[in-house]
Amino acid sequence: MKEFDYIIIGGGCAGLSLAYELEVHKKLKNKKLAIIDPRTNYKRDKTWSYWKVIDHNFEDCVKKSWSRFHVTDTSRKNNESDCSYYPYQSIDSEKFYKKILKKLKKNKNIFFKKKMNKSQFKGSIIFNSVPSIKKFNRDRVNYWQHFYGIEIELKKQTYGLDKFDLMNFDCDQRNAVHFIYILPFKKNRMLIETTWFSKYDKKLFDYQKQIDQWIWDWMRLKKTDYKIKYREKGAIPLFPIHQKNKKNFINIGTAGGMTRVSTGYTFLNIQEHSKYIRMNIDNINEVERFQIKKKYFFFDKIFMKVLDRYPEIMPKLFLNLFGIFNNSIIKFLSNKSNLIDDIIVIFKMPKWTFVKSLFN
Ligand SMILES: Cc1cc2nc3c(=O)[nH]c(=O)nc-3n(C[C@H](O)[C@H](O)[C@H](O)COP(=O)(O)OP(=O)(O)OC[C@H]3O[C@@H](n4cnc5c(N)ncnc54)[C@H](O)[C@@H]3O)c2cc1C
Repeated sequence: MKEFDYIIIGGGCAGLSLAYELEVHKKLKNKKLAIIDPRTNYKRDKTWSYWKVIDHNFEDCVKKSWSRFHVTDTSRKNNESDCSYYPYQSIDSEKFYKKILKKLKKNKNIFFKKKMNKSQFKGSIIFNSVPSIKKFNRDRVNYWQHFYGIEIELKKQTYGLDKFDLMNFDCDQRNAVHFIYILPFKKNRMLIETTWFSKYDKKLFDYQKQIDQWIWDWMRLKKTDYKIKYREKGAIPLFPIHQKNKKNFINIGTAGGMTRVSTGYTFLNIQEHSKYIRMNIDNINEVERFQIKKKYFFFDKIFMKVLDRYPEIMPKLFLNLFGIFNNSIIKFLSNKSNLIDDIIVIFKMPKWTFVKSLFN
């Protein structure tokens, strides 16, 4: 006899998003669900940002939304772009966890477990969000988007609120691709992240020094001019994760291939995947498995080859990418582009470099 109808392994972004989606659409009526996660607390640990190209369940967890952004290259040449049609949003993970847990804890048929024996899995449908260690190993072959960020509170109100900095390449490149990402939440409060697209190279891990340098270069602020209120650190795989789905075993989240390889964006893909599972939960073994469209794997594969061979062209490439036809670019980066959008993106790329990389 099965103990649970559904088991979710990993109660992080994907696991909790799925449980919430099932619960609010009454798919857990007369069903037993176990969520396994060794976590002891659910504090803020991530800031999930994305262009809002679809509706989702967590509008009330949005910390801030922006309709304009900057990209700056290594020589401080700057592009200001409009994204009012698809605003950029940031979600505070603590608000997200609290909202979901409050809802789920009202259902007596949802059980939170720190661990479970495999024998207890028998007969249940498993949704797994824990990547297998072997495949996820941080080796020196694959590319990662690795980053460290601090949210700072300034003594004086100095920063504009209406725009965010998607990529500021005016920082030490060290033969890789490096930029600073800034999300201003209040006039005196902002998240500043040093972000690398590179192999997992320990020589690039002097993150705090990189941020200090940038804050001095761009804002002329010393450490005594601000307080650090929050830190986050992460590494997102910029290579496809193909963990095998089996009967009654479905991978979700990063483990389920929901990360877009060229950008690291995952949050909205997780929301779409949760919705798909909820709509098909009664015959989940029969329906096709949800995945990011194949054309994006093809485009991203070439993009990653270009990034590997010509990292030095990336600041200009991103600067030129935005400015006009932003909606098409945003749709492309968010897996929502049509053929015309794809053509616009292709035209904005250095075509000869991409062709050379494709055949190499
Ligand atoms: C700091 C950070 C910032 C990010 N920012 C963005 C962003 O701005 N936009 C975006 O789209 N994406 C972002 N991402 C990428 C992605 O959205 C997140 O990593 C997201 O949390 C992935 O969800 P997940 O459920 O796959 O993994 P997680 O949210 O990491 O959840 C996995 C869960 O599994 C649990 N777990 C671990 N081992 C076990 C085990 N053996 N058994 C049971 N449970 C286990 C963990 O405790 C965790 O709760 C970010 C990632 C990081 C790390």
